[in-house]
Amino acid sequence: MSTPKKYVIIAIDGPAGSGKSTVAKLVAARLGLLYIDTGAMYRALTLKASMRGLDFKDEGSLIKLAGSTDIDLRQDRGVLKVRLDGEDVTSSIRTSELTNNVRYVAGVPGVRKRMVELQRALGRRRGAVLEGRDIGTVVFPDAKFKFYLDADIKERARRRHKDILAQGDSLSLELVERDVASRDVSDMTRSVGALKKADDAVLIDTTGLTIAEVVERVISHIEHK
Ligand code: C5P
Repeated sequence: MSTPKKYVIIAIDGPAGSGKSTVAKLVAARLGLLYIDTGAMYRALTLKASMRGLDFKDEGSLIKLAGSTDIDLRQDRGVLKVRLDGEDVTSSIRTSELTNNVRYVAGVPGVRKRMVELQRALGRRRGAVLEGRDIGTVVFPDAKFKFYLDADIKERARRRHKDILAQGDSLSLELVERDVASRDVSDMTRSVGALKKADDAVLIDTTGLTIAEVVERVISHIEHK
């Protein structure tokens, strides 16, 4: 697979709470590129599977569902809107229950194959900043710029906890840390598209850094490469 040269692809991977979504969004805005949140796509498909009452262990049905589902990401006045078969699901894909169920859907190789196709098609429209787990390794292995963001588990849990409270949910920090750690294990150990730093990705440890500092590091790397 090769990326047409006229499209700039910036791949940002990393675990939950590493800051990659916020950073990817800001980097995309600074560079005038499309921002693609690939986690939102796995979330949207998981939402559809649960609304249909599908058994998360039934890989065949999940693959069939992925093949007949349209997921689109659009910027609407600076906000990324997620559309599932034409319906706006932006706010319903962030619940804690759904977050914990995404791993079953994202762990199915046939589902990932379809998601990767969609992500490549979106990225090739006019270049993009894509963030996820397997962008630099699988989706766009020849991306010009690759970053891997990471942070200490305690800090990642604190960031996720803050997001959850801001959404109006209430979960203890201990529980959030346990969920983040268990999601790390699922993301890092699945057979296809596992979370892993690409050999040629720039590693940024975001522990103790502000979002603005991380964005500056990313932009400065892009400008000096
Ligand atoms: O990035 P976010 O936390 O929204 O992703 C939700 C879940 O979607 C992740 O925990 C992971 O299991 C899955 N995912 C994935 N591959 C990606 C992006 C997300 O498997 N490229």
